[in-house]
Amino acid sequence: MFTQDFANRILKVEESPTFVLEKKADELDIKLKQEGKSIIRFGIGQPDFNTPDNIKDTGKKAIDENKTRYTASTGIKELKSAIVNKFKRDNNIDYETSNILVGNGAKHVLDDIMRVFINPDDIVIIPRPFWVSYSQQVILSEGIPEFVNFKKNLKIDMEHFDNVISKYTRIKGTGNSRVKLFILNSPNNPTGVVYTKEELEEIGKICLEHNIYIIADEVYEKFLYGSAEHHSMASFSNDLKSITITVNAVSKTYAMTGWRIGYCSADNKIIKQMTKVQDQSTSNPCTIAQWAALEALNGNQDSVEVMRKEYEKRRDYIYKRISSIDGMECALPEGAFYIFPKVSNFFGGKIKNSFDFADLLLEKANVAVVPGGAFGADEYIRISYATSMDNIEEGLNRIEEFCSRI
Ligand code: PMP
Ligand code: GLU
Repeated sequence: MFTQDFANRILKVEESPTFVLEKKADELDIKLKQEGKSIIRFGIGQPDFNTPDNIKDTGKKAIDENKTRYTASTGIKELKSAIVNKFKRDNNIDYETSNILVGNGAKHVLDDIMRVFINPDDIVIIPRPFWVSYSQQVILSEGIPEFVNFKKNLKIDMEHFDNVISKYTRIKGTGNSRVKLFILNSPNNPTGVVYTKEELEEIGKICLEHNIYIIADEVYEKFLYGSAEHHSMASFSNDLKSITITVNAVSKTYAMTGWRIGYCSADNKIIKQMTKVQDQSTSNPCTIAQWAALEALNGNQDSVEVMRKEYEKRRDYIYKRISSIDGMECALPEGAFYIFPKVSNFFGGKIKNSFDFADLLLEKANVAVVPGGAFGADEYIRISYATSMDNIEEGLNRIEEFCSRI
């Protein structure tokens, strides 16, 4: 091969730390199995539940009915109508099918958005801690991710947000800024934080003032605990609706990560540009999966509550256990299926950062967690509790023992 073949943008992009960790855990697992041991996996975040039967049956039926050809590149009209109804029913947002786009998972839809908005060197503001792919997708579109700090409660530091915006405002008071997009993820991966209506309104007001589009990533909206409530930015006012792209997916809500169906709603001028991206790059998401997603959204919703209740039980248990470990500190997550303990008290000697902590935990205690550094918060680790209670109990025993020996 020649030496200088690859585009600069791809050379700047990092591998996904969640997938790297899975690979590492897979390799170690093969070795451990020969010794009769195994890894407890708190790494990649995906439901441990099976896709509900009504959805699987609809997928099988779609194959038997030969629903196996290309569709419109942004999805079948039946699914778009179901998404319109879902936004009305669950989020109090009024849309038409021309405002909807269906893609290959929320990840793909997010990438479409970046491609449509970002010119070289445009700024995208991302609050830390952030889900791993946001910043890398920005870089892939030749934009610049700018990170905003967080407060002790793991929520955005509004003062710093303001400072970051000011840094890129070209002419004060004109809204003329290099900042194109702001990404908001509530309920949040990796922290489990859920923003209140008032907090969202304050953020929305600032974005409106500075001509910044908002990506509202709501893929964990159904997994809320205690008294937490989910609010959609686009539901607050027509002005906010016009600058917000609401991203969602069937992946988490219906335990359908492998089916690869995500979607978004936005002003139809935005959807029109995103349609060009899918027309010319991927064409439609899997036809069979689209029919299954239609059943997910329109069919019986009982399975979602069954999963939510189970996650809540696990959250309560894991929070209690982690809080009792000497040296670990953690906030009670209100949503999603992650907990984000602070582990920096263990830094020093062999462990210099969250990557060392996670490596050593995997090697010595055979527990896989994602280092907080991957999410822009190096004092922490992320534990996914989308795994069985037995695994959680055993994993916590191992973590407790590991921490007592550091
Ligand atoms: N956003 C967030 C916050 C996520 O955690 C994930 C899960 N990887 C995604 C988007 C992507 O979801 P999907 O599997 O539908 O592509
Ligand atoms: N949402 C999951 C996670 O954060 C999936 C992995 C990924 O897409 O990066 O672990």
